Amino acid sequence: RTDPLNYVPTNDQTGAMLQEIAANYPDIARYFSWGQSIQGRTVHGLVISDNVNLNEAEPEVRYSSSIHGDEIVGMVLTINLAYYLVEHYGEPGYEDATDLVDNYELHLVPAYNPDGTYLHQRYNANGVDLNRNFDLPAGEHSTLQQENVIFQSYMRDHHFIVSLNYHGGALVMNYPWDYTYTLAPDDEALQLLSLEYSTHNLPMYSGSFPQGITNGAQWYVITGSLQDWCYDQTDCIDVTCEVSNIKWPSNASLPGYWENNRESMIAYARAARWGISGTVVDAKSLIPLNATITVEGIDMPVHPDPANGDYYKLLHDGTFDVTISATGYLPQTFQDVACTWGTVDVLNAALLPLPSGLVTGTVTSESGEGLFATMVVT
Ligand code: ZN
Repeated sequence: RTDPLNYVPTNDQTGAMLQEIAANYPDIARYFSWGQSIQGRTVHGLVISDNVNLNEAEPEVRYSSSIHGDEIVGMVLTINLAYYLVEHYGEPGYEDATDLVDNYELHLVPAYNPDGTYLHQRYNANGVDLNRNFDLPAGEHSTLQQENVIFQSYMRDHHFIVSLNYHGGALVMNYPWDYTYTLAPDDEALQLLSLEYSTHNLPMYSGSFPQGITNGAQWYVITGSLQDWCYDQTDCIDVTCEVSNIKWPSNASLPGYWENNRESMIAYARAARWGISGTVVDAKSLIPLNATITVEGIDMPVHPDPANGDYYKLLHDGTFDVTISATGYLPQTFQDVACTWGTVDVLNAALLPLPSGLVTGTVTSESGEGLFATMVVT
């Protein structure tokens, strides 16, 4: 078994470790890269899932770290998680890890801002704070930086459900929105999701924030954050995980952070399935549909992964009216769908195409007079 890291790897070492894991566990680990930083450093990543070369009907989850280059604990955590999952997959006593590999698709990116980490600084090589650089949903920021361009491209090429980005300097789960005091449409589910992490991390849970979570704006307002962009522009719920009061702690303390975060990392990813989920297909052809899933009272619809038609909508406990619609199809509303946090509540839909074509003619009595008539298409 690989021991938890007790040093901060260079970017090249990170890439080598992820590539080695992929080479040693090719069925459940696949190396990828978002692209290059401004100074030409590769942003390395690793996907962990069973059948890792297929896009299966599973929720995609992203863990990334160190968008602020000098906040490095999460970088070490994501690498440790990769080793932990591949080395314990299928082993009795590690059912949670096995479930994560079998039923989810986990994307790990330890070093979002490798130039900043190399320079031991918060900013990227242009001196820009990448977590204040996103133009939406609260506009007017500097030109989108290269590291954020390649991040957005990867996010748009995939269909993430839940993610988090590791920071340091505090100990709290900071959930959307950052830019406004208005509560997010999914506020209740966002709190439950954040609690999935904090309740398994005793220092965080018992720290200076009640239960280790906070609404972003209530802590302090920022604009241009990654989590707000994700939540506004993709179907992904992203939470900012402040994982250490010290941004760059001593090497000797790093394994202790892993002990405090291991269960949190697994529980948080698994929560991508808490709520309703299912597939939306054409009732006749069974082809996946580009549908919209809307929960009444929660103004944040989600959409299925176009490849498999699988969708996921995080929901707190309760009963909900859910409407599933697609262009050219009769929408379907499911009433009083019951949800319990911590369970998978399946809601599949097969939509019927709208009647198409034009039927014309005249309706007359036998004597030839015109009649008032009703035509019903079934
Ligand atoms: Zn930070």
